[in-house]
Amino acid sequence: MPTRQGPTRHLIITGGVVSSLGKGIACASIGRLLINMGYRVKIQKLDPYLNIDPGTMNPFQHGEVFVTDDGAETDLDLGHYERFLGVPCTKGSTVTSGRIYQSVINKERAGKYNGGTVQVIPHVTDEIKGTIRGITGPDVDVVISEVGGTVGDIEGLPFMEAVRQLRHDVGRDNVAFLHLVYIPFIKAAGEIKTKPAQHSVQKLREIGLVPDFLLCRSEKPLAKGVKDKLALFCNVDLDKVIDLPDVPTSVYEVPQVLIKQNMAEVLCRRLGLPVKPCDMHAWDLMVGHIKKPKDTVKIGLIGKYIDHQDAYKSVTESVDHAAFSHLLKAEIIRIESESLEKDEHWVDKLKGLDGILVPGGFGKRGFEGKLKAIRYARENRIPYLGLCLGMQAACIEFARGVLNLAEATSVEMNEKTPHPIIVAMDSQKDVIAAGNLGGTMRLGAYPCTLVKKGSKTSKVYGNVEVVSERHRHRYEFNNAYRAQFEAAGLQFTGLYIPDPSQPEKSLVEIVELKDHPYFLATQAHPEFKSTPVAPHPLFRGFLGAAYKHKTGEAAAVSA
Ligand code: GLN
Repeated sequence: MPTRQGPTRHLIITGGVVSSLGKGIACASIGRLLINMGYRVKIQKLDPYLNIDPGTMNPFQHGEVFVTDDGAETDLDLGHYERFLGVPCTKGSTVTSGRIYQSVINKERAGKYNGGTVQVIPHVTDEIKGTIRGITGPDVDVVISEVGGTVGDIEGLPFMEAVRQLRHDVGRDNVAFLHLVYIPFIKAAGEIKTKPAQHSVQKLREIGLVPDFLLCRSEKPLAKGVKDKLALFCNVDLDKVIDLPDVPTSVYEVPQVLIKQNMAEVLCRRLGLPVKPCDMHAWDLMVGHIKKPKDTVKIGLIGKYIDHQDAYKSVTESVDHAAFSHLLKAEIIRIESESLEKDEHWVDKLKGLDGILVPGGFGKRGFEGKLKAIRYARENRIPYLGLCLGMQAACIEFARGVLNLAEATSVEMNEKTPHPIIVAMDSQKDVIAAGNLGGTMRLGAYPCTLVKKGSKTSKVYGNVEVVSERHRHRYEFNNAYRAQFEAAGLQFTGLYIPDPSQPEKSLVEIVELKDHPYFLATQAHPEFKSTPVAPHPLFRGFLGAAYKHKTGEAAAVSA
């Protein structure tokens, strides 16, 4: 392992003016540049809200819940981090105020503070600093910490104070502060305004933080005069005022935008790290594919949170990654599953799709609509990809449509069904009864053995024997129905086999319909492992099949 030159360096990223500016994308893009220079990077999100983790939060409010290999339910920004960096995050990559306070209170109850008065400063701030420094190690050159929220938020103050103190603890030269602000364009005046950014920097200074870099989010690139003004009034060197205008095609262009402004070099100099060549070859190639697709395919995403832009973020990203790799553009048509239940012309919504995807989900609402879409895909030989609930639903649809078990369903939807195709996992029964919902699902990575040589499943995975995928579920396929399904043409191509001497204890991980162009569904969440430079095999296979459905030809394969 190459040794690091000097101590771990820290990058702290805060946000100002408004939220939803893409701070996570900016952090991840900076991380990508450092990795392309050969540095070893870890990245984490500090979230000031009081939930212990986002696992119990409604996707309508907070977007998707991202899951790590080690089973943490996290903010979707960790998805951006993994997609840009290609480095798996861990439980330590995410921390909320809830978790910090829980830990402080547990210590207090255990008498760890020797009877002292427990306070925000120093106890909460020490806990935060411990968490930030906790993910460093001899194999880490740079730690990037994104502070969630906007400067001025009351709940963010302990985090701001902790990162202020960090500069003292690890040495001024080893920490750089980056502040991401919004620079609005006022249409009526025809002018770009820097005042909100100036005020935001003032707000930071009030609490003792002085940004080294100003990352400026705007609709259009900033004129030189605007940058000069920001440098002067925000007290930031001109070469550290970085322009982040909206990118025309894809967020994956952001690292290129940064490199054009010499950000990699300026950052290294600020942190006292050797400036190394930044190898953008693979990244540039990928962005080139995004910009020049040869054809388009229509993919129907059948879900119940489709109005929230980010509720299926990793799924839509994975579809895009697979599309780029075939030199295609995916047109993702979001279809509210409930609308398929109510609308008598529901078939019209599915006509013309080249592929149908049912992602993960919970509860009854919209479930019957998902089943309708799956039946349509099965009967009309349209490529289908089912993820988690999308696999459970595919099995239920097969039971109803092929095995004629009209009342078949999951016990999640009807506890008293005569045909419980999907049942609660043994390990989950007590948890469900107790209503103990936070962090208690079957979470994180488990191995899946690909048991059917020659199946499409094995083929798309490159004929390996075992794969590892991430999970987040409480229910599983009921093994009592396996033989009946298999005899009728639904194959179980991937199994989790905890004990080979007890095959009845294996868990169905992947199913595949025989005699269908592409009908694959998995209990796992492969969308959490796709990156733009390494698209996930199940999605690649799906997009390839969608293109074949559209044109009758095999899709291209990128270099
Ligand atoms: N609700 C189903 C279960 O808990 C599926 C979960 C999911 O799709 N993530 O098993």
